[in-house]
Amino acid sequence: GQPVLAVVGRPNVGKSTLVNRILGRRAAIIEDVPGVTRDRVAYDAVWNGRRFTVVDTGGWEPDARGLAGRVAEQARAAIDTADGVLFVIDATVGATDADEAVARVLHRSGRPVVLAANKVDDARAEADAAALWSLGLGEPYPVSALHGRGSGDLLDAVLAVL
Ligand code: GDP
Ligand code: MG
Repeated sequence: GQPVLAVVGRPNVGKSTLVNRILGRRAAIIEDVPGVTRDRVAYDAVWNGRRFTVVDTGGWEPDARGLAGRVAEQARAAIDTADGVLFVIDATVGATDADEAVARVLHRSGRPVVLAANKVDDARAEADAAALWSLGLGEPYPVSALHGRGSGDLLDAVLAVL
């Protein structure tokens, strides 16, 4: 079958918005209140004539206690069935404990990872993206899922690892 891309990251970083950007239509559920996106929804996507499956993740209750562990657990479950992982971070917030927990899971998984530094809505925010080199997952791709900025370069990088 076609290759599978899992989109992982903590609540509210913009995973579903980015999935919609990848799909080119409003299909994934966007919520300002985190925790309501259904768990692991798969969509058919195409970029530059290549078909792939995108799996949006979410659905946990984001109470402070154990959030990092739960996000990491969700990421682990998603990457088990994926050929590649799109790890989304809110670059305006920077890497949190939960992000670092996911990064450790991804390091251990051996799966190819593309790091999306989301919410880089303008050039001024590019420095926030560069700070994410510290996660040791390679180049952070600055993107604005909301406005589309950087999404072409990000998708080229994603297709290169699938
Ligand atoms: P998810 O929980 O990771 O799936 O996050 P959502 O896609 O539901 O987005 C959470 C919030 O972040 C929503 O209010 C989005 O509109 C907002 N958001 C997503 N991407 C961007 C972006 O690139 N820039 C800005 N400024 N806001 C964004
Ligand atoms: Mg979501």
